[in-house]
Amino acid sequence: MSAAQERSVLRVITHAEWLAEAERLFGERGRDWPFRCVSCGGVQTGADFVALGMTPEQAAARVAMSCIGRWATDRGCDWTLGGLIGLHRVVVVFEDGRRQPVFEFATPDNAPAADHQVIGKRRVAP
Ligand SMILES: [Zn+2]
Repeated sequence: MSAAQERSVLRVITHAEWLAEAERLFGERGRDWPFRCVSCGGVQTGADFVALGMTPEQAAARVAMSCIGRWATDRGCDWTLGGLIGLHRVVVVFEDGRRQPVFEFATPDNAPAADHQVIGKRRVAP
């Protein structure tokens, strides 16, 4: 299986496993965990959302499933995993059974190719 095919496989992991992986890769401060938007390939952290004026709670609720381009229009992307089209590769399963599609953590392995195009709707900055 090629690396690209492996990356397209859906990972279903528990919330506890997901948190443990994030801490192992990026440390304990959740606001600094980098997520990669599945559409534009951009990297975002909770701190980026807070810098836009959101509360830490709003940032935490959005960073793993909505492109920051929904609020920062210079990104040219407004993807959210709440939409109808599912491009996500990771689903987190909570203790109560709820399943939440999330963005992958941003690592060198999943950096987009140089010619990567935004998959979702493009936003043009005014
Ligand atoms: Zn995006």
